[in-house]
Amino acid sequence: MTRPAIARIALNRPLRRLFDYLIPDSLELASGQRVTVPFGRQTLTGLVVEIGVEPPPGVNLKAIKGTLEAWPALPDNTFNLLTWASDYYQHPLGECLFTALPPALRRGRPAQEKADESWHPAATEAALPANAHRQVALFNAIKESPGISSSALVKAGFSRAQIRSLEQKELIIEGAKALTSPVTEDLPAPTLSAAQQAASAQMPEHTHEFSATLLYGITGSGKTELYLHYLKTHLKANEQALVLVPEINLTPQTLARFRRYFGDRIQVWHSALNDGERLSAWLKIRNGEPVILIGTRSAVLLPFNHLRTIIVDEEHDSSYKQGEGFRYSGRDVAVYRAHLNGCPVILGSATPSLESWHNAQQGKYQLVRLEERAGNAKPPQLELLDIRSRPLEAGLSRPTLNSIKETLGRGEQALVFVNRRGFAPVMMCFDCGHLEECPRCDTRLTYHRRDHAMRCHHCDFQMAASHTCPKCQSENYKPVGQGTERTEDTLAEQFPDTPIVRVDRDSTQRKGSIQAILKRVNTGEPCILVGTQMLAKGHDFPNVTLVCVVNADGGLFSVDFRAPEQMIQTLLQVSGRAGRGEKPGKVLIQTCHSDHPLLTNLCQGNYAAIADQLLAERKTGALPPYRPMAIVRAEADTMQNSLQLLDTLKPMAQSPGIEIWGPLPAVIARKADRHRAQLILCSDSRGHLNRVLTQLCQYLDQARLPSSTRWVVDVDPQETG
Ligand code: ADP
Ligand code: ZN
Ligand code: ZN
Repeated sequence: MTRPAIARIALNRPLRRLFDYLIPDSLELASGQRVTVPFGRQTLTGLVVEIGVEPPPGVNLKAIKGTLEAWPALPDNTFNLLTWASDYYQHPLGECLFTALPPALRRGRPAQEKADESWHPAATEAALPANAHRQVALFNAIKESPGISSSALVKAGFSRAQIRSLEQKELIIEGAKALTSPVTEDLPAPTLSAAQQAASAQMPEHTHEFSATLLYGITGSGKTELYLHYLKTHLKANEQALVLVPEINLTPQTLARFRRYFGDRIQVWHSALNDGERLSAWLKIRNGEPVILIGTRSAVLLPFNHLRTIIVDEEHDSSYKQGEGFRYSGRDVAVYRAHLNGCPVILGSATPSLESWHNAQQGKYQLVRLEERAGNAKPPQLELLDIRSRPLEAGLSRPTLNSIKETLGRGEQALVFVNRRGFAPVMMCFDCGHLEECPRCDTRLTYHRRDHAMRCHHCDFQMAASHTCPKCQSENYKPVGQGTERTEDTLAEQFPDTPIVRVDRDSTQRKGSIQAILKRVNTGEPCILVGTQMLAKGHDFPNVTLVCVVNADGGLFSVDFRAPEQMIQTLLQVSGRAGRGEKPGKVLIQTCHSDHPLLTNLCQGNYAAIADQLLAERKTGALPPYRPMAIVRAEADTMQNSLQLLDTLKPMAQSPGIEIWGPLPAVIARKADRHRAQLILCSDSRGHLNRVLTQLCQYLDQARLPSSTRWVVDVDPQETG
């Protein structure tokens, strides 16, 4: 056999094509391997996709410069997963493959860690003289963030000599050594309640066969305990596991629970890691170390090679779908990965996505129900409060305020859910009717009182707020509607002696601030939490016994077909924060539509019944999950250009078995001065839809479009608006 002389290389470019290079004689290559190649005047990092391809006739190919390491950065299973995802989501292969590399390796850096030691505590207390303040502080810093690097400690003001001194006293231990001699005790699996045991008995066998299980466990039922138990009893000492969590769920609490049982086997992967930490975690996974990786969406793409279990917690969470670029769903890729790998995948939620619920009904997923709360906790009582003709205090009714007062009086905590950050979503002139709009988007500006600014939540526009109407100078210019800041102010007036803790994107921007907030709440002292969705997700506050929803009506009449599902999920999740400890919980939902069937069903607390009802509606509308859907979105400097592009595509997409809606302007037709339109495609056959999309992409790649026109294909879209 003659040596293959040509290799096809993927580059980290948004191009739907690969590049051919000659393989120099001395070079051994495998697919998934990193190479350096000349590209124009630059040298780029590439990934080998195929070897031994026929050279195109009459083209002078350049040669690969060299390899970056002797082994493939992406082993076959990961490579195949990404190739599949590139095709399924219609995203260029190069960018898909590079997503699975840590930033340092994308830039062509060597696949080695910098020699920066990481430190772990080797004792529970520091037996140090009382006057050794700095050393005690250093010990505590390491105890608080095990694995912290020398350079981070130096940055925090400690000296290398102090670190050495603690090491000599055997109070701390270097990371590499800590791994071989874990300091955490090896706990047995957690003790399960009777209901948890029954659920646990139905969990999948740990075989080398694919299985998908939907764990429908109500809020506070102890799903985490079940995951821990599953891993503890099934995962062998040399195997890898992946636990996917939504962005916000990566709280120190959850992490601490996993670390208690698995010590240093636990690795994390999320957007706040720096490049060094990412490279380090990536290398452990690629080297096959028996890690249990707790990570957000992109963790599903990492190059595991002994992956034996995948768990997707809060599988309904919309943050699993990437909203730009490579628009994959971490949950769906996880299921496919388990299928490729031949291993179990467990999807857990109190409010499963309709997709997963449907799969369970079809028998594609095994359904495990856990419908009791753990410990002595009972499910909360939900109550609708019709606010149509009630006087409101900045959006809060008298009965709501009274309930908060009673809760605080019993020494307990209350949580108030508002679906908008800022002070008020609209500023309006009551003389001339003027509404302050974003100059760049078709939306209103939100008034932020803390920094006296008007902000657009859809682009980065902001300006100083004015006291008078910008149009008629009237002083009758007022905020309308509720935001978290306004609710916080009202509650501070009503309860001057109680701490109010606001949790939204604005109040948690600084690194570590959410942790500080949660710590405070977890002391259990009476307080009122005010916040957005961020509060709905996964938190376990045992002393919160009352949850108030300021306005439940947002999703009832939206044009987006997923809005009712998402609204119900959020309401049930936020309700699930009440009564998780010993004391019973109550939920008050303010609404103007207290007879709406979705809301009345919600109060029965029976998500299964609601999911069935919502699925029936999806079936009638022939919507996902009954038919796959994709959206082609276009944006341009005029609406006409956007619509025109989609109009050209429409006849190309038209074929038997494809239903097309649009082109239509998006709900927010103008965003950051770009005019947006969309073409929605549905089909009975995913394969057919995929082929049509491939053709559209091929056409679009070659089409001469006005320079400012952009397009994107979104498969299984989360938002249709
Ligand atoms: P979920 O994720 O299902 O909402 P969690 O896993 O956060 O629930 O568990 C809720 C609470 O119940 C946690 O405080 C947890 O420590 C506690 N818990 C879970 N299982 C048990 C158990 N078997 N016995 C006692 N407490 C438990
Ligand atoms: Zn006016
Ligand atoms: Zn804007």
